[in-house]
Amino acid sequence: MLTENEIRPEALMAEQARLFAEDVAGLMAHRSEFIQVPCPACESVEYQPTFEKCGMPFVTCLQCETLYANPRPRPEHMVGYYRNSKNYEYWSNYIFPASEAARREKIFQPRVDLVLNICDRFQVPTRILMEVGAGFGIFGEELKKRNRFQQMIAVEPTPYLAEDCRKRGLDVVESPIEEVNKANLLKPGETINVIVNFEVIEHLFSPRDFLRQCADFLEPGGVLILTCPNGKGFDIVTLGAQSSAVDVEHVNLFNPASLALLMRSCGFEVIETQTPGKLDAELVRKQLLSGELNAEAHPFLTQILVDEWETKGPAFQQFLIDNHLSSNMLLVGRKQG
Ligand SMILES: [Zn+2]
Repeated sequence: MLTENEIRPEALMAEQARLFAEDVAGLMAHRSEFIQVPCPACESVEYQPTFEKCGMPFVTCLQCETLYANPRPRPEHMVGYYRNSKNYEYWSNYIFPASEAARREKIFQPRVDLVLNICDRFQVPTRILMEVGAGFGIFGEELKKRNRFQQMIAVEPTPYLAEDCRKRGLDVVESPIEEVNKANLLKPGETINVIVNFEVIEHLFSPRDFLRQCADFLEPGGVLILTCPNGKGFDIVTLGAQSSAVDVEHVNLFNPASLALLMRSCGFEVIETQTPGKLDAELVRKQLLSGELNAEAHPFLTQILVDEWETKGPAFQQFLIDNHLSSNMLLVGRKQG
């Protein structure tokens, strides 16, 4: 079973929290310049203010229930935030190396299995796969070991992450996807069969522009596989602003229905929806144990997630997974054409 401590070692998280607070202060210094946006999924402008997290205002779309930051930082401020982030530098130097083995085994190898399984089930050709937001390059490295794709392209705009990808032998395009020119990337006649991005879309100023760009890169019938938080999942709905999935970087918290709506409007047929997240029950349990979530106000959750954790906890998490109620989701879209 995957535990939170394996991927976020507690001993390192205090320093990370301090650096993250500095990053957030830098972003929030632009608060007066934040701009109003329509719902990132359905473009409705009707919303209900929901909560603030670290000064970032979140609202819920009255049409599709997407939870999103509004008003939100301008694109140039978001770019500056990631480029200058001390938190990400610390992750890269300390937290990631300390948790790499567990992440490789429990996150990236299962992701490779999932992607290959989707290719098999939907009979997707496996010539070229592109990963957008390749990060440290572990997915690409694990995918290459399977020898299924003839070519794997890693798109990663952050210089030290792109360097990590190169060290692992990946073909790297060090650029934001918006600036990648298809004609420079592919030889004449070549097309991309599969695009994957893991935990990317929730960070973007315009998910719509991003999905259209992905559709443009794919051949007709090619598939886009993406994962992101589910704003209607158990830990986010239960913990609200106290959920670790709600933070200033996650400006778009879609749900399975609203993300499907957005994907369809960008030229995809949605052929698969899953919520494979494994951590919801543990995350809520921790806050019940620490008192951050009032156990007296949640006697039933306390019964399942604390008193009867050993016997009921795993079954409860499986129930969330089976019913599209986990806070981490995966959708697959097939480009129409
Ligand atoms: Zn909406």
